[in-house]
Amino acid sequence: MPRVPHTNMSELRQDLTSGDWVLIAPGRATRPKFLDKKRPARKPTPKSTCPFEDLKKNGNWPPSFVSPDEKNWKIAVIPNKYPALERGAVCSVPFRHGIYHVRTAVGTHNLLITRDHNRHFTDLSRSEAANVFGVFQAFHDMAAKDKCAAYISTFYNYGPDAGASVWHPHYQMLTLPIIPPHNVRSLRGANEYFKKYGRCVRCDIIKVERKKKARVVFENEHAIAIAPYASKRPFEVSVLPKKHWDSFRDTPPAAVRDIALALQAVLQKMKKYLSDPDLNFFVHDTPLDHRDYRHHHWHIEVVPKTSLEAGFEFSTRIDINVVDPDIAAATLRGKKL
Ligand SMILES: [Zn+2]
Ligand SMILES: [Zn+2]
Repeated sequence: MPRVPHTNMSELRQDLTSGDWVLIAPGRATRPKFLDKKRPARKPTPKSTCPFEDLKKNGNWPPSFVSPDEKNWKIAVIPNKYPALERGAVCSVPFRHGIYHVRTAVGTHNLLITRDHNRHFTDLSRSEAANVFGVFQAFHDMAAKDKCAAYISTFYNYGPDAGASVWHPHYQMLTLPIIPPHNVRSLRGANEYFKKYGRCVRCDIIKVERKKKARVVFENEHAIAIAPYASKRPFEVSVLPKKHWDSFRDTPPAAVRDIALALQAVLQKMKKYLSDPDLNFFVHDTPLDHRDYRHHHWHIEVVPKTSLEAGFEFSTRIDINVVDPDIAAATLRGKKL
């Protein structure tokens, strides 16, 4: 069995922005066992039971957005029938339940549907993948004008273990009346780094990782995909614009296209080298409150479902990652372990 290139010792690594600790514990660091598990073949649900085949019949017509047109639509955006948040007559208001703090959950919950029942993000053509990101960007732009929205959460669930209850490819966009605590901590960490060194932490990470190469999974002209040094989960990957853009909303189309293509390349590698795992990807954009976030460098995170949170993670909020990110990146570049 090949050996790990550096050390078998476990390490506690700290995320440079969020401050979160992760226990990188590769153990004997031979090939992770779950890579050899035979996954049962995916079973698409029949089109006849799919809620997204006939949008008219299912009460989803007209969509709030279609591309290129209603007859030949390839992308449609519809409100989620079972929204996690709903628009109210007024924006979210805080109130008290005895000693407890509460807010009304005012927001929006939209789904972006691509037309083909069976082609997930990995299988789209390059221009279709870029178009999906063009629509995400338009929605982030629109959400920035919504005075009730503080943050937009855009994500994709692939497979039942990653939370997808419907087979047909669909992407979710939720506006929230609060900035999620994880994002607040990450923004605070990036701001502290910026104040201390006068530079963006993620620009520094990109510089270091491009020089070292070990954790680079994929690169094109405008985007780079990296297995983060303090990866919380096995085979987690971040996709970032190489040039500093604080917000997704301001990023020029050529860079957005390259980010979509880099993400697609990463997902194709996961399908090939990790036996098509269930996974989530999500966009980490700047909040919508129009403050100065020049220290933030927006990006996408991809997390394949390869492990479960258990007692240690719940009790400490420290994740255990059994795959060294160097090994994760090498595996995703196609290196045999
Ligand atoms: Zn369908
Ligand atoms: Zn940057």
